[in-house]
Amino acid sequence: MTTITFEGPIRGGGAPPCAVLRCSAAAEWVAALATRATGRTETLLCGAHKAQVDGGTPWRWDSAERVFLVGPDRLTAGPTPVDDYRFNVQVGDIDSAVGPAPVVLKLTAGRDEVPAVMMSRETAAALGRALLDIGEPGWRTQR
Ligand SMILES: [Zn+2]
Repeated sequence: MTTITFEGPIRGGGAPPCAVLRCSAAAEWVAALATRATGRTETLLCGAHKAQVDGGTPWRWDSAERVFLVGPDRLTAGPTPVDDYRFNVQVGDIDSAVGPAPVVLKLTAGRDEVPAVMMSRETAAALGRALLDIGEPGWRTQR
């Protein structure tokens, strides 16, 4: 969980551009991002993007690229952080390249549902085993 607080507005001209991907407006606010894992990072936002964040628009900070992502860019640039998931087994007549009764994995990122992923039951089982392997040490599967 990343919290964001704003400091500003920045006075005077000559401010560097907003850190939102493809936004070239002058920055008006210092956005302080804080996570328990990485501590505090500062970036810059224009007035329009600060207003979007204040209005509840989902956002993400890409620390590797040092770019602020909102809107569709939040889900398409780099890995998408997932908050929740659900496995469903498709039943009935499904014309699928992944065999009968494929498994559909639905992922949720914030308020958005990420496009679902369909896989064979064998792939889903392997994914489940892989997830167990990266869980808590006490939950590791024996080989
Ligand atoms: Zn902007």
